[in-house]
Amino acid sequence: MTSPEPHPARKRVLVANDDGIFSPGIKALALAIAAVADVYVVAPDVEQSGVGHGITFRRPLRFKHTAAAGFGDIPAYRVDGTPADCVVLGVNLLGRPDMVVSGINLGANMGDDLTHSGTVAAAIEGLALGIPAIALSQISSGGDYDFAPGAAYAAKLVARVLEHGLPPRTLLNVNIPPHIKGARVTRLSDHRYEDTLVTRQDPEGREYHWVSGKPRAEYADDSDFGAVEDGFVSVTPVRLDLTARDLMERVAGFLPEV
Ligand code: MN
Repeated sequence: MTSPEPHPARKRVLVANDDGIFSPGIKALALAIAAVADVYVVAPDVEQSGVGHGITFRRPLRFKHTAAAGFGDIPAYRVDGTPADCVVLGVNLLGRPDMVVSGINLGANMGDDLTHSGTVAAAIEGLALGIPAIALSQISSGGDYDFAPGAAYAAKLVARVLEHGLPPRTLLNVNIPPHIKGARVTRLSDHRYEDTLVTRQDPEGREYHWVSGKPRAEYADDSDFGAVEDGFVSVTPVRLDLTARDLMERVAGFLPEV
């Protein structure tokens, strides 16, 4: 009689997003990761795209189990708050995960957009709580989203990161093109928009403004935009510490006296 092979305890992954608990992107992601880890889902009850790292602290939050979102056996909870709120509540009420994974977002999160992305904010909240994190976003094909290839890749990446780990306060920001040719490690592009404000008139003739914009057309090959343009999954290691260390001495040189 042979004794069973000892195997490490199954890891736990908290899956969150900013598109809301009924988004097809989070469903595909949670179901794919469930093959490599124990998954629990905590997500906003309605879409929260663009809220960045907002935290709700002037009103109470509700945390509700939901069976209606199609996650099967995966425990799923909805919160009437932001993506970052979801991670705080999930970690405190359901126990500390080995990783926070956010997405899969409907649409890219690249370059400067990381600063207002709710998808990335959920991952950043993981880092703030000392938990490694991955953020995932899917680029559409003419407005249509197929999450299956990206979700399959996400599960493989999650398994690798659970195995290899990440340094403290760093995350992987992943953007998935419609037709995947391969994967590339990238840097954030210095992403700029054109036509960022559209001004029109309402039916009563009063002006209103719409924050919009189309991305600039050209990007470096080693950037996140360049990778997805070439059909590659873009994987950017991102650090929470935004300090410009190379500037500290220079700023000290012109700091006025008090
Ligand atoms: Mn979103």
